[in-house]
Amino acid sequence: MSILPPSPERIDHLVEGMTLLDPSAERGIVVSLPHPDDESFSSAGTMALASDAGVPVTYLCGTFGDMGRRMGSPFFANRESMRDVRERELADACTILGARYELLGMRDRMVEFEDPHEVATRIRAVLERLDPSTVITFYPGHAVHPDHDAMGLATHLAVAALPDPKPRLLAVAVGDREQLRAALGPQQVAVDIRTVRQRKLGALRAHRSQTEMMFQRWESERDDDEQMRAYREENLTVERFYRLNGVAIPLPR
Ligand SMILES: [Zn+2]
Repeated sequence: MSILPPSPERIDHLVEGMTLLDPSAERGIVVSLPHPDDESFSSAGTMALASDAGVPVTYLCGTFGDMGRRMGSPFFANRESMRDVRERELADACTILGARYELLGMRDRMVEFEDPHEVATRIRAVLERLDPSTVITFYPGHAVHPDHDAMGLATHLAVAALPDPKPRLLAVAVGDREQLRAALGPQQVAVDIRTVRQRKLGALRAHRSQTEMMFQRWESERDDDEQMRAYREENLTVERFYRLNGVAIPLPR
């Protein structure tokens, strides 16, 4: 069974009221998230469309993902090898997406305990050097995992500290769709990724230690959850983001 049904001809219903962003028209894109694989789940299509057009794309990855819960299916990684395994997977995914990557080298699952201003200073230095027109991160407080929230907050602080004109700051929210909509409303920006959906799948597959089980489930007959299928199909069709510039984000106590 193919897990990639044909591209839908129309996407109007998926992007209603949103601004369509053309990644190929950007000056540069920096994706700033904490774990290897966050980039592929959230913005692989956007990254591929930009890099195909010669736009420099960098994944600024906060950690090595060495505390990842999954070890492959069947297991091929352990706690000791995890760091190297995940960096190799990250390198492979970035090759597929035409992106380069930089690692901040923080400890996985520990980003929330770092001083957000210190992390922001390090992210800001990268943004000053690369001068992107768009930065993508997680929506602080709406990204499920403490590392996600913390990296989103630090990236928000970093962009706020840049001189004008600042890059566009886009945020990915994660979690229950209805709850997110109630808290944040609909996303404002969408990218049509239909032409690069195979690349997004390829990048996700490259993060084998984390995604092998997911693909096995997708490819098996056990996967007949209609909602899951629709969700997957949607995320291989459009990538949707919130605008975060100028949004007030409370600092953690
Ligand atoms: Zn993550």
